Amino acid sequence: MAFEGLADRLQSTMQKIRGKGKVTEADVKAMMREVRLALLYADVNLKVVKDFIKRVSERAVGQEVMKSLTPGQQVIKVVKEELTELMGGEQSKIAVSPKSPTVIMMVGLQGAGKTTTTGKLANHLRKKQNRNPLLVAADIYRPAAIKQLQTLGKQINMPVFSLGDQVNPVEIAKKAIEQAKEEHHDYVLIDTAGRLHIDGELMDELKNIKEAVNPDEIFLVVDAMTGQDAVNVAKSFNEQLGVTGVVLTKLDGDTRGGAALSIRAVTEKPIKFVGLGEKLDQLEPFHPERMASRILGMGDVLTLIEKVQASVDEEKAKELEKKMRTMSFTLDDFLEQLSQVRNMGPLDELLKMIPGAGKMKGLNNIQIDEKQIRHVEAIIQSMTGEEKEKPEIINASRKRRIAKGSGRPIQEVNRLLKQFEEMKKMMKQMTNMQKKGKKRGALK
Ligand code: GDP
Repeated sequence: MAFEGLADRLQSTMQKIRGKGKVTEADVKAMMREVRLALLYADVNLKVVKDFIKRVSERAVGQEVMKSLTPGQQVIKVVKEELTELMGGEQSKIAVSPKSPTVIMMVGLQGAGKTTTTGKLANHLRKKQNRNPLLVAADIYRPAAIKQLQTLGKQINMPVFSLGDQVNPVEIAKKAIEQAKEEHHDYVLIDTAGRLHIDGELMDELKNIKEAVNPDEIFLVVDAMTGQDAVNVAKSFNEQLGVTGVVLTKLDGDTRGGAALSIRAVTEKPIKFVGLGEKLDQLEPFHPERMASRILGMGDVLTLIEKVQASVDEEKAKELEKKMRTMSFTLDDFLEQLSQVRNMGPLDELLKMIPGAGKMKGLNNIQIDEKQIRHVEAIIQSMTGEEKEKPEIINASRKRRIAKGSGRPIQEVNRLLKQFEEMKKMMKQMTNMQKKGKKRGALK
């Protein structure tokens, strides 16, 4: 994930000042030197770094006194607030046009992830905001672009408007909006053409589409992996076309994060979403405050809670709780639990959202092994229904068969069965404790 180096550096700088009961100007100066280096190393735009350091220094030295925080903590608070401000302050939502449909034009260079993001955004609008978007294939130059959007549309079960590659993109966009009105789509997402570099012809075409359809939003898709180039591309698109927001893709890669920290300051346009993988659900609204918190190792509990809520089915959770109470929890339920956890995303990413987890030495070294989880799944899936219900019937020959079926050594099968047994014991103890507690409560 992006920002790792920056987060490490900033956190160790903050660590030095955190507990200080008195912070002198020299302390702030020393700290700012380190923060400056950390930001430059993360490939943040030079001017942005200078302004940032200036603002933080001014506030950190002559700052208001708060009783609840130590002076060291107050300085950290200032850094966090300024970092949040740098990335845009408030979260910026998607526009809703007073007259339907809301039109969003997707623009960007080839390879930035524009077509993928168009699919992801449609998926987001449908799933998170209950909208009914129409996707529009207006990139008639890249040979596979139309097909790619159609394939994405199929995956998320959404219609894609296309007139092939022989019709002018302006015409395509206009016709698409007519059709969207007829079919009552409330959003229209236009996937436009990209080029390898910004050129006049491309800009002219985009301007013509803009003029013809008067979009409510123009989202520029940029690749975070390209660092300062992404910032330059954003600046140039914004000057020539006027974008309303930025989607930063490939933030799951090992980019140093400079683009994310500079784009808002350089273009004054908000980052609306970030792409965190190739899959269609790997698009997240960008929350400057949460991101600042994550970078400074203060965790991101809100995103964690949202992820849990999104992946846990309430009905299933209730059912599970009942099973635990009545001791009818089986290996199948265990498997279901595992897959719910996996739906939330990579475990080490989740861990980082817990405040302070980044600083816990042990946790840093734990490689949460996704492979191990897959192995457990393979073992359970190699059992028969009866074995999953009543693991006590699994004798030596059954164990051999399960080991063979799952391609795992027999010791792993043993270990899993033992762990499951212990988990059940623990559940029993907990249920007993709860029952006793209830009885005592009733006697009062
Ligand atoms: P376009 O030319 O701008 O339309 O770019 P595409 O949508 O075809 O994307 C180019 C490549 O980037 C594809 O292989 C995508 O799967 C990949 N991609 C797009 N967004 C992300 C992202 O957020 N993370 C990662 N890892 N890959 C992405």
